[in-house]
Amino acid sequence: MPSRRPLVFGNWKMNGLAADARALAAALAEAGQPEAGTLAVFPPFTQLAQVAAQLRGSGIIVGAQDCHEAAKGAFTGSVSAAMVADTSATAVLLGHSERRHGLGETDALVRAKAEAALAAGLGTLVICIGETEAEYLDGQTLAVLDRQVEGSIPDGIDAAKLVVAYEPVWAIGTGRTPTTEEISQVHAHLRGKLIGQLGEAGRDVPIQYGGSVKGSNAAAILGVPDVDGALVGGASLDPAEFLKIFIAGGGRLARPGS
Ligand code: PGA
Repeated sequence: MPSRRPLVFGNWKMNGLAADARALAAALAEAGQPEAGTLAVFPPFTQLAQVAAQLRGSGIIVGAQDCHEAAKGAFTGSVSAAMVADTSATAVLLGHSERRHGLGETDALVRAKAEAALAAGLGTLVICIGETEAEYLDGQTLAVLDRQVEGSIPDGIDAAKLVVAYEPVWAIGTGRTPTTEEISQVHAHLRGKLIGQLGEAGRDVPIQYGGSVKGSNAAAILGVPDVDGALVGGASLDPAEFLKIFIAGGGRLARPGS
């Protein structure tokens, strides 16, 4: 269950060959079991089985960066949720902005993928939402997020399986972040929205912030009320930096062998 805060998740994106993934996973496993907080990594599909095997028993969740909405069939190049589960990965990222804006994924498609992930038995769904810079400058942030929450999260989802990642598109990979006041306002709004949509269970759904999180800004961002963790891209490729974010947010690792 992805419920222990902070939830610090690393999205490796399209980075790393087998040796890189093996070294990164080994460095995380050797750092010790998370004893406060939750860690997860999202390697490329080609490294998923390897990393899932390597991190078995480590307490670190392993997930895919996407899955197809259909159970199986003639979808050349795609990977189903059951195939993800078959690697023994247990989580999936859905609706990342690089897929929404780079590949034209709609809220309806993200919802269909979430339904497929639930049907395949994946235990953690990270649904990503976020406004573009134009929407931000136009004061549309909360309206965009409301639409994405309504459109992307399946009705009746078991809230214990859901994590929402708020990632302003303009903050991803840019080194720019909203102010902590802006993050606080958005997260408070999202908390209310999730309660409105999911009922009381929405109160416990973790809401991560993502977009240019690094060791040096993690304590400030993760200290904001209603920020339950971080979805980390670039900085997650450096295990020391990734773990620094986790520790800055109040995460704790048990010393190996203790
Ligand atoms: P970034 O990416 O940390 O490199 O900005 C975040 C993300 O895309 O999840």
